Amino acid sequence: MRSIQVLKGNVVYAQKRTELTCVENGYIVTKNGVIEGVFKVLPGEYRGVRVEDYGDKLIIPSFCDMHLHAPQFAMLGMGMDLELIEWLNKYTFKTEARFADTAYARRVYRMFADALIKKGTTRVAVYSSVHRESTHVLMEELERAGVTGYVGKVNMDRNCSDDTRETTEESLLETRRFLEECKGRYKHLTPILTPRFTPSCSNELMAGLGKLQREYGVRVQSHLSENRQEVEWVKALHPDSEYYYETYEKYGLWIENTIMAHCVYSGERERAAMKEAGVVVAHCPDSNMNIASGFAPVRRMLEEGLNVVLGTDIAGGALLSMRDSATSAVRTSKIRWLLSDKKEDFLTVAEAFYLATSAGQAYFGAGPGFQAGDALHALVLDDSRLPETRPLTLEERLERLMYFSSDDTIAARYSEGELR
Ligand SMILES: [Zn+2]
Repeated sequence: MRSIQVLKGNVVYAQKRTELTCVENGYIVTKNGVIEGVFKVLPGEYRGVRVEDYGDKLIIPSFCDMHLHAPQFAMLGMGMDLELIEWLNKYTFKTEARFADTAYARRVYRMFADALIKKGTTRVAVYSSVHRESTHVLMEELERAGVTGYVGKVNMDRNCSDDTRETTEESLLETRRFLEECKGRYKHLTPILTPRFTPSCSNELMAGLGKLQREYGVRVQSHLSENRQEVEWVKALHPDSEYYYETYEKYGLWIENTIMAHCVYSGERERAAMKEAGVVVAHCPDSNMNIASGFAPVRRMLEEGLNVVLGTDIAGGALLSMRDSATSAVRTSKIRWLLSDKKEDFLTVAEAFYLATSAGQAYFGAGPGFQAGDALHALVLDDSRLPETRPLTLEERLERLMYFSSDDTIAARYSEGELR
C-alpha cells in the first residue's frame, strides 16, 4: 500500500477548453505516482491509506511552458525597448555566447530550473544555446529540479554573432552527437531538433536536420511568422517559397508535433498547413507585446481547430510564470477583440487555463486534467492569505489565483508523481 498516495482538496481542472471541472473536497488517488482517478468520495478499497489533506486549498494540474529559451534567463527584463532582430543582435546572441562556459551554464541553469518549479511549471519544451555540453548541463539541472519534457540544442550557421555561429558541418555533427549522448541518459527529458529559425539556418543545415529527424524520429521546434521584418527577410532568403512555413516543409521539418512559436502573421494558408500537418502553435503573448511583434489570432486558430499551447518565451517574455502567460493571453485577445470591432471574441480565463495545462499536457501524451493512467503533475494553490472577500465559487477562486501569480500562493508541487 506504500505506493498508493491520496491527495485531498478542491480539485479543479479543464477537461475541455470551454469547461472547468470542479470537485469540491475531492480526492486524487495515485499508485506509484500514476493517477488512478479523481473521486468525490474515497472508494472503500483505499480506506486506511494515509491521506495528504490540503483542506480548503485548490489542487490543479501543474503548468506546461511550451516555448522558452533557458540561456535567456540570464537576460530577463533586458532590451525590452527593441524589436526582434535588433534585440537578437544587441542582447540575445551576446548572452547565449557565454554558455560555451559550462561552469557559467551550471550557475544559470540551476537558478532557472529551480525558478521553473517554484512557479509551478513541471513540463517544458525548451531551447538551450548552440553548445552541446551546456545543453547537457541544462538537462541535468532540469532533471534534478523535477522539470520534465523536451530540450533542444540550438542550430545556427548564419546571421548570428561570430561567437555563436557554427559551421554547417559542426552544427550537424554536434547535433548527431547530442542525440546519441541522450540515449538512455535522462529519465524524463527528450531531445528535440531546434533550428533557431529560418534566417539563422542555411539550406544545407536545414536539409541535414531533416535527415537527422528521419533517422532518429525526433520532434522539432522552431519559430514562425513572429515579426513583419522577419517575415520579409525569410521571403528574401527563400524567393522560391511563397509562405514562411514552406522553408521548413521543404526540408521535412514541418511534421506532426513540430512546435512553431508565435505564428502572429500566419495567414489562412499557413494556418491550414499547420492543421494538415499536425503542427502545434506555441502562443507567447507576453513576448509578442514586449518586443512589439503583434497579436496572434488565437481565437481564429482555435475555431479552425488548430492545436494551440502557451509559452512564456523568456526572455522575449519577461515573466517566467505560466499564470502570467495565461492572463497575458487573455489581455492580448482583448486587444484583438477591440480592434475587430468586438467581432473576434476574447479568450476567457478558463480557456487560457486550459491552454496552459491540458493543451500542453496533450503534447506529452497525457489526457486533459487528471486522467487515470497519467503521471501526476499537480499544484496545490493556497489563497488563504489573499484579501478576504465574499464567499467565492471554485471558478472564482481559480481566476483570482491565476491573476495573483505570486510564488507563495503555491503550497505544494508534484512532478511525475513526486512531491517537489
Ligand atoms: Zn523564442
